Amino acid sequence: MVAQVIDGKELAQSVRAEWKLRVDRLVQSGVKPGLAVIIVGDNPASAIYVKNKVKACSDIGIYSEVHSFSKDAIQQDVLDCIRSLNGNPRIHGILVQLPLPLQFENNRIITSIAVEKDIDGFHLYNVGALVTGNTVFSPCTPFGVMVMLQRNHIPVEGRHAVVIGRSNIVGKPMALMLLERGATVTICTSKTHNLTQFTQNADILVVATGKPRMIGAGMVKPGAVVIDVGINRLADGTLCGDVDFEAVRTVAGYITPVPGGVGPMTITMLLCNTILAAERAHADGEIR
Ligand code: NDP
Repeated sequence: MVAQVIDGKELAQSVRAEWKLRVDRLVQSGVKPGLAVIIVGDNPASAIYVKNKVKACSDIGIYSEVHSFSKDAIQQDVLDCIRSLNGNPRIHGILVQLPLPLQFENNRIITSIAVEKDIDGFHLYNVGALVTGNTVFSPCTPFGVMVMLQRNHIPVEGRHAVVIGRSNIVGKPMALMLLERGATVTICTSKTHNLTQFTQNADILVVATGKPRMIGAGMVKPGAVVIDVGINRLADGTLCGDVDFEAVRTVAGYITPVPGGVGPMTITMLLCNTILAAERAHADGEIR
C-alpha cells in the first residue's frame, strides 16, 4: 500500500480562500478583523513565526500589530499591554508568542487575555470550555488536524486514535477534540512502556513529540491515518517530522508530510479563530 498524502499547503489555501469571503463580509459591514501579537525576547524561531503570522494576516485582509518586548522586560509591562488590547475595539484576537522568558508566569500572562480574544484557546477558561465540550476557540494545531481529517472524509467516530505527546498546546487538546468527535483515545508519553503496542493498534495516529523520525513503518497499523505534527530541524538544516515519512508511507492509508502538512494548517486556523472572534464581537455589537 502507498499512503495518500494529505497536502496541508493546498488545503490551507482553500480554507483561507473560503474564510477570505467572511473577512470581506465583515469589512463590508464596517469591521476589519484585528490581531495583536505580543513577542517577548529574541528567540529567532519565535521571530520567524510572528513574521509569518503577520504576513498571513495581511494576505487575507486581517489588520495586525506586533508588540515587542525585550527579554529583560517586566511582566507588569506585558500585562498592561494586554489590558489595553483587551479594551481596544480594533483588536479581536490577542496572541502571546510562546515560549516566554523564564521570569514570566505563563498562566498569569495568558489568563490576563480577555476570554473572547484568546484566539489560541490557551486561557484556563477556554481550556475548561474545551474539556466540557463548550469550545470557545479550538487550539490552532489540533483544530487544523481535525479539519484535515474532515476535509479528507476520514471518519473519527468509533475509531481508535492514539496521540503521542501530552503538551498543553498540541497533545492534550488534540486528544480532547478526537474524544469529542467520538474516537476512543489513547495518550502516550515518554513514560509509556512498549509504545509500539499502542501505535500498532491506532486507526488514527497523531505524533507530536519533537523526536525526528521516531515512528517507523513497523510501528504503524496497515492502512492507518498518520498525522505528523512534529517539526524538527536536522543538522544539515533540513526539516523533518516525528514520522519516518518514506518508510511509513508504504504502510499507512493516509499520511501528512513535513514540511507542508500540519504546519500550514496551524497558521490558517489562527486566521480562522481571529475572524470568528471578529464575527462574534460584531454580532454582540448588533444585539446591543
Ligand atoms: P513538547 O516538548 O511540549 O511535548 C512533547 C511530548 O512528546 C511530551 O508530552 C513528551 O512526553 C512526548 N514525548 C517525547 N519523546 C517521546 C517518546 N520517545 N515517546 C513518547 N512520547 C514522547 O512539544 P510540543 O507538543 O510543543 O510539540 C511537539 C512537536 O510538534 C515539536 O516538534 C514541535 O515543533 C511541533 N509543533 C508543530 C506545530 C505545527 O504547527 N506543525 C505546532 C506546535 C508544535 P513527556 O510529557 O512524558 O515528556
